[in-house]
Amino acid sequence: MYDSADDIIYFDPEVLPTHQGQLALLHEVAHAQLGHFHYRSDFELFAMETKAWSKTRDLAKDYDIDISEDYIADCLASYGDWLTKRATCPTCQNYSLQADETTYQCWRCQTRWRVAVDSLDRIRRERIQ
Ligand SMILES: [Zn+2]
Ligand SMILES: [Zn+2]
Repeated sequence: MYDSADDIIYFDPEVLPTHQGQLALLHEVAHAQLGHFHYRSDFELFAMETKAWSKTRDLAKDYDIDISEDYIADCLASYGDWLTKRATCPTCQNYSLQADETTYQCWRCQTRWRVAVDSLDRIRRERIQ
């Protein structure tokens, strides 16, 4: 888990020997190196995750860690599902744009709905547990 407040990357040594643990840590390092601390919209967060994974591929080469494309594809797919769920209008199923950090509005039927401020890494963790 990356904590931007004090610039320290914590990791669980129990998890680290596993390949997924190494990739997850590199992914947090990638966020840190890219300066990913703030985002204004779900789409921006989604874009940050995509960039962080491509940076993770570069880091993995430097650290001589095998990249698991399946694992990355799985993470990216779960971000896509998350974004689609949040952006889909509950009334007419239209794919909509975000109005502000916690609100979406459907341009077709004008329905507004609120979403929780969320972190994709948390979504992913909840999904794989
Ligand atoms: Zn991430
Ligand atoms: Zn709608």
